[in-house]
Order: sequence, then structure tokens, then C-alpha cells
Amino acid sequence: MEREDFLLFCEELRAVFLKNDLGELLTPAACEQFYRLTAHMLEENEHYNLTAIKDRAGIILRHYADSLLCARYLAPGTRLLDVGCGAGFPTLPLAICRPDLQITALDATEKRVRYVAGCAELLGLSNVETVCARAEEYAKGQARESFDCVTARAVAELRTLAELCIPCVRNGGLFLAMKAKNAEEELAAAAPGIGTLGCRLTKKENVTLYGGEETLSRTALLFTKIKNTPENYPRPYARMLKKPL
Ligand code: SAM
Repeated sequence: MEREDFLLFCEELRAVFLKNDLGELLTPAACEQFYRLTAHMLEENEHYNLTAIKDRAGIILRHYADSLLCARYLAPGTRLLDVGCGAGFPTLPLAICRPDLQITALDATEKRVRYVAGCAELLGLSNVETVCARAEEYAKGQARESFDCVTARAVAELRTLAELCIPCVRNGGLFLAMKAKNAEEELAAAAPGIGTLGCRLTKKENVTLYGGEETLSRTALLFTKIKNTPENYPRPYARMLKKPL
């Protein structure tokens, strides 16, 4: 590790975290883990496509800080399922900053799951478990109605996302969707289906992500599970897309 580069990285990271009210999550150990993750991700990105964001400032803002915006909604000790974790977002930033969480990172693509498992091992994150499966298949097994919270970032439109995520939320648990744009339209279209799946909206909050020169808008949508999901959901993926709830 190049000491000067590491210190510069920590400074950049801390500035963005402080601006976004995430400062309390950033320990010295977390700074080092983010530094190692960034170097590893950029190196692996040379061999296969993990992220389109390749500059450090972009990674800090759009991957790390953005992933951590949902941390404030997660109670201590939450058992969390991240559906469609891709290159590990929000799983890895959450696992680094919130060691109290137990995170299951799920993706249908084996390469991505292997990469996330490798990152967790490299960074010594014992609170991450990985699963290679389609969410709609996974929800038919033991995972059904078992997680305190299910979340997903940049995976699908809300109607489809709800059907992929809600079956795995336990009664009284949370489905947490962070939406970047069109949140209102997506919510209006998805509301009846979300009720059918057993959830109701309990919080809607606009959150601003502050970068160096840009600000990004996010909407946090929190749904509480109030009854079990009917057994016929989730339907096969093609059916979800063809006939959204
Ligand atoms: N969450 C990551 C992020 O924010 O960077 C990755 C987003 S990427 C655009 C979407 C990911 O969802 C892909 O890795 C894809 O394999 C996964 N995915 C899409 N549909 C899925 C499904 N039905 N079950 C499991 N994974 C799925």
C-alpha cells in the first residue's frame, strides 16, 4: 500500500462520508478496507466487467456512499438479503461499516457471486454469506419469509422488484427499496401488487447524496410485511415481466 495514496484516499472518503452524514460509520479499519476494495475492484475490472464507474471519486460517491444511504433504516443485528448484489453493492459497504449486520448477498451470475465472496474473504468480512441463485427460485426454499430486511439496488422496476424481494421478508420485517428516479410513478404502479404480496408502505423519504460538485436524489421506500406472501408468488421471471403485478 502506497502510504501517501492511502492517506489521500482516506481524506477523499472521509469528506464524502461527512457530507452525507455517514461519518460515524467510518472507522480507521473501514478506511483501509475501502482502500483495498477499491484497488481490488479496479484490478478485477480489467479482466471482466464489474463496474462502469472507474474513477475513485465516482466509486466513493456512487458505490460506497450511495450503498450506505440505507444503513440508517437497518436496526442493529438485522439479517439482510441483498437481491442482485452484482459487484457487491450495497452488500460490501454495509458489511464493512455495519459489522452487526448478517448479510446474504444473492445474484444469478456465478462470476459476480464468486467475486463478492472473494472480496469478503480478502477484507475479512465474516458477516457476508453469498448465494448464487435466481431470487424467484431462492424464495421458494427455506429462505422464504425468513429475513428481517430484503433490499436491492439497481435491479428492476419496483413492481418486479417487489415480487422478487417480498416473499423472503419475514412477517413484521422490511422490504427496503432505494430508488433513483421515477420513484413516485413506480410506487403508484406497484402499490396494489405490493399489497397482494403482503406489505404496506410505512415510510417514504427523499434523500440527497452530496458529492464534490454534484448532488444526486434518492427516494427511500420502506414497506413492512403485514401478512405472508401467497404461495403462488413469486411467479417465473418471464411472467413477472410480461404481466407485472
Ligand atoms: N446491486 C448491484 C449494484 O447496485 O451495483 C448490481 C446491479 S446490476 C445492474 C443487477 C444485478 O441483478 C445483476 O448482477 C444481475 O445478475 C442481478 N439479477 C437480476 N435479476 C435477478 C434475479 N431474478 N435473481 C438474482 N439476481 C438477479
